[in-house]
Formats: sequence, C-alpha cells, structure tokens
Amino acid sequence: MSAKIVDSFEFCKQQQQAAGQAPVAEFARLSAELSSSAGALDWVIAGGRHAAGVPQLLLNVSGQVELVCQRCLSPMLHQLESVSTLVLAIDDVDADEIETRLDDERLDVIVGSTSQDLMVLVEDEALLALPLSPRHAQCPGDVPQAGAEKAESPFAVLKKLR
Ligand SMILES: [Zn+2]
Repeated sequence: MSAKIVDSFEFCKQQQQAAGQAPVAEFARLSAELSSSAGALDWVIAGGRHAAGVPQLLLNVSGQVELVCQRCLSPMLHQLESVSTLVLAIDDVDADEIETRLDDERLDVIVGSTSQDLMVLVEDEALLALPLSPRHAQCPGDVPQAGAEKAESPFAVLKKLR
C-alpha cells in the first residue's frame, strides 16, 4: 500500500483536504475480508475542528467491493459508502477523556499522530463499514432454472415409498 503520511494535528489545524482513489488490492487487511481484490476505493479526508474545540477528520470512503455471500458462499458485489468523523486525541488518556466528555456515538476518537498514514484510516474505515453477514438479496441458486431441478431429498423419496 502506498502510504500517505501527514501530521494529523497540522492537517486539522490548517483545514487541509486530501482525496484519491486506491485499488482495493493495495489494502492487504481489507483484501483478506473480500472474495477478490477487484475494484477501487474513492476516499476524501478533510481536516477541521470539532465544535468542542478538538481537531477532527471527516472521512468519506466509497467504492464497490466483492464480498462472499454468507448464504450461498458465492461472490456478491457490495457498494461501500461510509462517512465518519474522527476526533483526534493526544494520547490514550486524552482519548478516554474526550470520549467521556463528548459522549457521542457518531464520533470515533483516535490518537492523532505526527506521522499518520491516511491510507490506514481509509482501510480501517472500509473494514468497519463492511456488513457483518453479507447476503445476496436473491442468491444466484434461488433463481429457478429450466431443466436444472434440485435433486429430491432422501426424505421426500422415503415419503413416496410409504
Ligand atoms: Zn448468496
């Protein structure tokens, strides 16, 4: 994965923005969760300040990824679309303090870094946005196909014999 290192505190302070597109194949942890590493993620990150006076990053990740359907185990396309707000803390203690103070489930508090790889944030975001148990609205096997009837179950055969 080609890193995109920034000082996350400065990035917020100067209200910088960064955006790009990265192939899914560049994200090892994400690819491991997918049925293939086809596709790409579009991402936008904007630095700023939360109303409570702490630095924040607005993160938007979208793209089409290929998951494994948990019902039929065949690949399924999934449109990933995730927007989140990351509030920056100085360290773990500060993170706990901010979390308690803001008490807002829509926010994620992370420890900021002077050498933050933005692509790690993008990958984390994509991973968190994946559905836990992806399923086709209609699995390919559900579609009745002419001449391809299911084999009768042994129990159905037994019933006929009675
Ligand atoms: Zn399926």
